[in-house]
Amino acid sequence: MGDKIVSETNQPAGDTTGDVALPVIDHWLGDTRWPGTGERCGDVFDPARGVVAARVRLASTADVDTAVASARRAHGAWSRTSLSKRSTVLFAFREALKRRADDLAMVISDQHGKVRSDAAGELQRGIEVVEFACGIPSMLAGAHTEGASTDIDVTTIRQSVGVTVGITPFNFPAMVPLWMCPVAIACGNAFILKPSERDPGASMILAECWAEAGLPEGVFTVLHGAADVVNALLHHPGVDAVSFVGSTPIARHVYETASVTGMRVQALGGAKNHMIVLPDADMDAAADAAVNAGYGSAGERCMAISVVVAVDPVGDDLVEAIAERTRGIVIGPGSDEASEMGPLVTAMHRDRVRGYIDAAEADGATLVVDGRSCEVSGSPDGYWLGPTLIDDVAAHMSVYTDEVFGPVLCIVRAPSYEAAIELVNTNRYGNGVAIFTRDGGAARRFTAEVEAGMVGVNVAIPVPVAYHSFGGWGESLFGDTHIYGPEGVAFYTRNKVVTTRWADPSTRGTDLGFPTNS
Ligand code: NAD
Repeated sequence: MGDKIVSETNQPAGDTTGDVALPVIDHWLGDTRWPGTGERCGDVFDPARGVVAARVRLASTADVDTAVASARRAHGAWSRTSLSKRSTVLFAFREALKRRADDLAMVISDQHGKVRSDAAGELQRGIEVVEFACGIPSMLAGAHTEGASTDIDVTTIRQSVGVTVGITPFNFPAMVPLWMCPVAIACGNAFILKPSERDPGASMILAECWAEAGLPEGVFTVLHGAADVVNALLHHPGVDAVSFVGSTPIARHVYETASVTGMRVQALGGAKNHMIVLPDADMDAAADAAVNAGYGSAGERCMAISVVVAVDPVGDDLVEAIAERTRGIVIGPGSDEASEMGPLVTAMHRDRVRGYIDAAEADGATLVVDGRSCEVSGSPDGYWLGPTLIDDVAAHMSVYTDEVFGPVLCIVRAPSYEAAIELVNTNRYGNGVAIFTRDGGAARRFTAEVEAGMVGVNVAIPVPVAYHSFGGWGESLFGDTHIYGPEGVAFYTRNKVVTTRWADPSTRGTDLGFPTNS
């Protein structure tokens, strides 16, 4: 275990014979589906049934060239399209997404495994970013200084970057692409999406929605593939900027590679989100929050709570309250409305998560609720793992040091607030963090002292609204800007400053000195 680069599609693609009846997911080029020239396909699973349900094309190097050339051609005219027309397309895109909301929720749930209501929730958060991007004219208003010097005016304008690429993870197949493409496109860029090869279906509906909204062809492209496609994009001279969201080892690799090849890059990585519960907290509210944020989407969220830090003497009561709720969680296929938690995304990932539970037990932690024997009737081959609650976790255990990314909630006991915040601040990740307390002074001190990008006070999943920006600290983000919101606009635009003189003819004359303001 540990922080190694692991990708299931780095393995050779499966045998395609016998798969002819399976649907094949194409790329999207211009304004239509496109098979490309790649001969390989990857498996797309139905995690609730534990079967291969579709195949996805894996792009060749020639396909990468074709996609980038198409995006470059489209960029010029799109960047010159008026802000009024661009925002009209964004408004129409929002409507198209709302019309296709059920289709999107279904494909997300079928390929990822999360329950439908959760899939609908991620789409809604993505649509909020589209709504933010609809207001692009006011965000690109720039700045003007009249009379900065005698007869001199200065204007700052923000222009598009060019061809931008988004590389996205499996766990939010609609929301994370929607963190990127509405803002990139609103700013006048062309955008190439390289979605996760594990659940690529949602990206194709996004492409159809863009086309329906009247986006000119070539401005939005979808290119499927795994590591080799990512690396081809990172080395492509026709790409100007890359946004990445995924695990920390790949985020670091993307950041380092794109920096060397001269691209603008923001790379959001993994997380280990802590929730501190002080003794004065509302215990029921804290227990509800820990369960919802720990086991929602089977813990496969970058903002999932994975560690609850129980500050003495709250531990025993809190563990009991969380355990009671955990035992009541209904597990089943995402398509079943009664299900509260679905399967994990692949068998390999489920086994990896289970390995962390085994290790915690061997390390001496206390298994309060053990999800390893979870079975779901009617779905014997699904990638099930029940919600697991582990108490007495210590900072040296792998279940604490590594990002587990599954339905595993750890309890660490801390003797004081100081010990709790020390634990959080020495963790190498710094994505989200929460404190539960009724003490305003303690909360204020915590928000000032904690080393993390997104902080919740009595809010366990503090994902910022679309008009603020999202991002972590430490090894949860490589680069300077957070994603979407005002920082997203800054990332997807370049500053240009125009200094203008319409001089009075009487002031002319030669002067070789450095220009000073007068
Ligand atoms: P991942 O890093 O395995 O994959 C992310 C993307 O990188 C995919 O498109 C994949 O094809 C590509 N990729 C995989 N291996 C690669 C390699 N060796 N070289 C180049 N590209 C490669 O992540 P995942 O498993 O799909 O998603 C889960 C991870 O994403 C978790 O670590 C989670 O915390 C993180 N995540 C972070 C945020 C955030 O905002 N910080 C949001 C969502 C998910």
